[in-house]
Amino acid sequence: MSAYPAQDRLKDKVALITGAASGIGKQIAVLFAEQGARVVILDMDKDAADKAAEDIGRAGGTALGVAANVTDEQEVEDAFKAAIDQFGRLDIMIANAGAQHVEPIHKLSYANWKKVTDVQLDGSFLCTRAAFRQMMTQKEGGCLLYMGSAHSHEASAMKSPYVTAKHGLLGLCRTMAKEGAQYGIRSNTICPGYVKTPLVEKQIPDQAREHNMTEDEVVEKIFLKDTVDQTFTTVEDVAETALYLVTFPSNALTGQSILVSHGWYMQ
Ligand code: NAD
Repeated sequence: MSAYPAQDRLKDKVALITGAASGIGKQIAVLFAEQGARVVILDMDKDAADKAAEDIGRAGGTALGVAANVTDEQEVEDAFKAAIDQFGRLDIMIANAGAQHVEPIHKLSYANWKKVTDVQLDGSFLCTRAAFRQMMTQKEGGCLLYMGSAHSHEASAMKSPYVTAKHGLLGLCRTMAKEGAQYGIRSNTICPGYVKTPLVEKQIPDQAREHNMTEDEVVEKIFLKDTVDQTFTTVEDVAETALYLVTFPSNALTGQSILVSHGWYMQ
């Protein structure tokens, strides 16, 4: 568990977080549970989702693991139904599940393009629609959060599907801010810099090979080159930002994207 004190800032709220069996999503689930939310850990890795939910339960929180692939329409519908059957409502949905593939465009297969864009864009659409319908029915508003990236604003070579998808999420987020306003539904995007999670650890050897560098050089000359302090962003940094966004008290903060990247990209 993290070092954050319990403050019940999310008491009575139900939050569903996709891709929450690992990395950033998992830390958001931990922090939200510490703040009193009942959390739904939706992930395609069933065992890891169940384990993350059990860990939260052992620490005194309330969590449910639900297995689903966010790119499968029926699995998403079933997962949201299971969550709402269990907890009775839905207040927060975080579209966080993501994938990465590092390769220059001339070598990139259509399958690898789709592997990245399907989970980020199609998956976010399916989860947004399911959450939006439930929040409309409840008539008590709600929060949508998208896990963008500094790559929602900046490009890097060899990451065309990821950069394209992360830019696309800004469009979905902004459209939901406009469609959601009349129902009290806010929509925002978090844009982290590099965070040491399995998604990033996996790409270090790929980047080293494609750029003909050592793995240390990849960290220094690619990942942290443009930060103000050569420092990785942490899962805790991102989870705190998520908590700030979902507890913001008014519609003043909607349709926005917040960079959490040690100054890698400044907007
Ligand atoms: P991670 O690999 O630690 O976790 C991703 C989780 O998503 C895994 O548990 C995986 O099983 C799940 N997942 C993948 N595809 C899925 C699918 N189709 N359906 C359901 N679950 C699926 O990665 P992370 O670094 O925590 O990334 C989380 C999000 O943060 C991603 O959207 C990623 O693009 C974004 N992000 C990460 C970084 C970083 O540096 N780590 C930076 C910016 C943005």
